[in-house]
Amino acid sequence: MTESKTNESLFARAVEVLPGGVNSPVRAFGSVGGTPYFVASAKGAYVTDVEGRQYIDYVQSYGASILGHADERILSAVADAAQRGTTFGAPTETEVLLAETMCEAVPGLEMVRMTSSGTEAAMSAIRLARGATGRDKVVKFAGCYHGHVDSLLAAGGSGVANQGLVGSAGVPEAAVADTIVAPYNVVPMLDEDVAVVAVEAVAANMGVVAPAPGFLQGLRDECDRVGALLLFDEVITGFRVGRGGAGPMYGVTPDVWAFGKVIGGGMPVGCFGGSTDVMANVSPLGPVYQGGTLSGNPLATAAGLACLEAMTDTAYEQLIGIATSLAAGLTEAFASAGVEAQVPRVGPLVGLFFGDTMPTNYDEAQASANLGHYPAFFHGMLSRGVSLAPGAYEAMFPSLAHTQADIDRTVEVAAEAAGDIAV
Ligand SMILES: *Cc1c(COP(=O)(O)O)cnc(C)c1O
Repeated sequence: MTESKTNESLFARAVEVLPGGVNSPVRAFGSVGGTPYFVASAKGAYVTDVEGRQYIDYVQSYGASILGHADERILSAVADAAQRGTTFGAPTETEVLLAETMCEAVPGLEMVRMTSSGTEAAMSAIRLARGATGRDKVVKFAGCYHGHVDSLLAAGGSGVANQGLVGSAGVPEAAVADTIVAPYNVVPMLDEDVAVVAVEAVAANMGVVAPAPGFLQGLRDECDRVGALLLFDEVITGFRVGRGGAGPMYGVTPDVWAFGKVIGGGMPVGCFGGSTDVMANVSPLGPVYQGGTLSGNPLATAAGLACLEAMTDTAYEQLIGIATSLAAGLTEAFASAGVEAQVPRVGPLVGLFFGDTMPTNYDEAQASANLGHYPAFFHGMLSRGVSLAPGAYEAMFPSLAHTQADIDRTVEVAAEAAGDIAV
């Protein structure tokens, strides 16, 4: 390295050339205050910033890293692939292998189309559903995030929530005219204009909110009643809550899926899929156009394949064990500090809500965030060497690289940080 760089000096340069100094809004620390740390390197459970400070990392690229940072299996898959060329504009074997692996793992998923991001996957899945049904209306749930596509930003959770925006400037009325926003965990009554009901099967962009018993099955039944398609946005839950995603966990099979994050092994990937019948609508088989210069990219699909191969049943058990220990430890830490907090856990997904009740929808999640404790807790953790996402609506992502010692240290730090809020 050349002369010493600081987070402060890099951020000062960044804000001159990048809006807010970042390439994705949540990273700017807008809702927690302070200067973002600039990552110099990362390995396993840890990130190291440009000032040499090391953090036990629960951001893990918002869930894109499940094995932990710079896993050797992924690095060598990417290096091998790169040697053979980085993009061709022609199909490769790795795309077939990744698609086969996914379809084998997820019950009901028979065909996929790869993209370069989760946003594209959700956007294309909506287009597919509209094309397949010949209908326009889309139902989404408040607090569920489906990427930054115009029609789905309304009440979008995650970074959209942190910005305090209902949606976004630059989205014309016409783009959301066919979007209906319903409260999470209540089955809406549909009519026969509805093309698709899009849902995060486990909501993880308004904090972690589990589906209430019967909610997903209720959506399935209501979609079937009116002939609408059910879309599970599994960009976070896919290959994280388990190999088959949220469907088998709750015994409900959607018609269309969107994936991203984990399936790219930390490289830019998304994909959407469904049954062979539904996917027959996608170009070049059918009339729903969708494509991409870098879609199914050889480096990204090699990383994704290596990741899914590493996520064996034993690996999922280990990850869930670590998450369970983290959730139990955090619950205990808040209790002993006398701070009212809820630590929801669904499989390996861990959330955090301040307050005395467990939120079940976006209004309740917002009421928790509005208590205003998160920024102090976040900085209490960061200053003691634990990085959480800089936003109250994000999940924690323990990885396979987090050890029990990392969890113990995290819980110790959390007890101290909780003590800061209690006074
Ligand atoms: C992250 C996310 C997306 C968007 O994926 P990008 O790769 O950021 O475009 C869509 N849906 C859900 C549920 C997500 O968590």
